[in-house]
Amino acid sequence: MGAARKHEETIAGWGNVGVPGREVLSERLEPASAEAVLCRGLGRSYGDSALPPPGAREVLGTRLADRILAFDPESGRIRAEAGLTLLELNRLFLRRGYFTPVTPGTQFVTLGGMVAADVHGKNHHVAGCFGSDHVRRLKLRVADGQILECGPELEPELFYATCGGMGLTGHILEVEVDLKRISSPWIMGESRRIANIDHFLEALKDASSRYPYVVGWIDCLSRGKKMGRGLLDAGRWATPEETAGKALPERPAITFPVDLPSWVLNDYTAKAFNSLWYWKHLPKRREGLRHPDGFFYPLDMIRRWNRMYGRRGFTQYQCIIPEAAGRDGVVRFLDFLTGMGGASFLCVIKDCGPESKGTLSFPMPGISIALDLPVRPDTQKLVDALNELLIAEGGRIYLAKDTFTRADDFRRMDPRVERFEAVRDRWDPERRLRSAQSVRLFGDPA
Ligand SMILES: Cc1cc2nc3c(=O)[nH]c(=O)nc-3n(C[C@H](O)[C@H](O)[C@H](O)COP(=O)(O)OP(=O)(O)OC[C@H]3O[C@@H](n4cnc5c(N)ncnc54)[C@H](O)[C@@H]3O)c2cc1C
Repeated sequence: MGAARKHEETIAGWGNVGVPGREVLSERLEPASAEAVLCRGLGRSYGDSALPPPGAREVLGTRLADRILAFDPESGRIRAEAGLTLLELNRLFLRRGYFTPVTPGTQFVTLGGMVAADVHGKNHHVAGCFGSDHVRRLKLRVADGQILECGPELEPELFYATCGGMGLTGHILEVEVDLKRISSPWIMGESRRIANIDHFLEALKDASSRYPYVVGWIDCLSRGKKMGRGLLDAGRWATPEETAGKALPERPAITFPVDLPSWVLNDYTAKAFNSLWYWKHLPKRREGLRHPDGFFYPLDMIRRWNRMYGRRGFTQYQCIIPEAAGRDGVVRFLDFLTGMGGASFLCVIKDCGPESKGTLSFPMPGISIALDLPVRPDTQKLVDALNELLIAEGGRIYLAKDTFTRADDFRRMDPRVERFEAVRDRWDPERRLRSAQSVRLFGDPA
């Protein structure tokens, strides 16, 4: 990779917490990946997983390598370079009757990033994860320079460690995945306002038995009887009869203009926003056709919304409270969170299905809770405390979001780390491939 201009440049994840370094873009990943320590897609992981380790200072940006290499309209199987974005995939295929089998809550991600985080979506309960449940083949450059193919039946150990392995097992050059046939490009959706956490947990279960796509938003600042009140969103692909041939329009987006000063976001503004959001949803229940962009990607309507958190940035804490911890586990978590004063605008809640085969994939049966937290002097303390509670409940965090978890806590919450490290020992004993996150969490050389 080319010589770096020295070093006032910084690079950050979506949470805007920067480190020294830069991205070097290439539209030809095969030669460019030979020397790279890490790949980066669109940098939509919140924390430090797509940031270089301190000693390397460069990552290989993949987003220019976005060619579609093959497509079979019969099966929906597509092969593309790892930098192809979901935005582009949707633009080309949605109106033609195909959709990604699993989508995260933004379309500003690359195929490589979707595999490396083994992303999950609103349909996790029926469709699992993107990489470990739907990808058929990967072309991978491993640490010794070899380029090889892997998949569920070909070098499966390496394949499953790569799905959810956050770029640490090899550079993904190409991805082959089965797109899903859809009955129309519209969603038939239902959304409801729900009064508290007990009703919410029931409603999530009920909606998950009736719909393939389900997610909720809760106000995690309300306490007492209102704890866990919020909005539940569920949907399925509309039938051609329901859409009556209505064309899908493009949705305009606006751009968040500036970095807000940090004082604007405080416990009071967060509380006011959460109440407004909850009550804006009138009447109590709504049903009808929904644009897929609004249904799957509401935040994409405001480009660069991460500037709302100001220059200090923010982190997302996403964890699973496992099924075994039950309703009481979720209540203990929310109670603790509101007690610690972790003001958060967005708290997304989802009932996850069975664990996938990805060695470090995030989801497992239980309730996933994701909250955005502005970075403040006490954020480390807050995350430490949340992790302590999470470990006691038997849960775990999502690496694509994490910036603050400590190595010891990570190992205590995820016994699968040993299996993952064994795969790295085989394919990359010297730990050539690494990130700022892997230095922090796995103890890789800086
Ligand atoms: C608004 C928003 C909503 C989101 N919603 C969800 C959600 O619902 N579900 C969910 O699972 N995630 C969600 N995410 C997280 C996001 O899907 C993941 O972080 C995803 O990995 C980002 O893709 P990216 O291409 O931007 O990858 P980056 O952020 O650039 O990289 C993420 C990881 O992938 C690795 N990587 C990227 N490309 C390659 C490659 N070619 N080869 C090897 N490794 C590679 C990087 O090294 C890094 O470890 C959301 C993020 C945002 C901002």
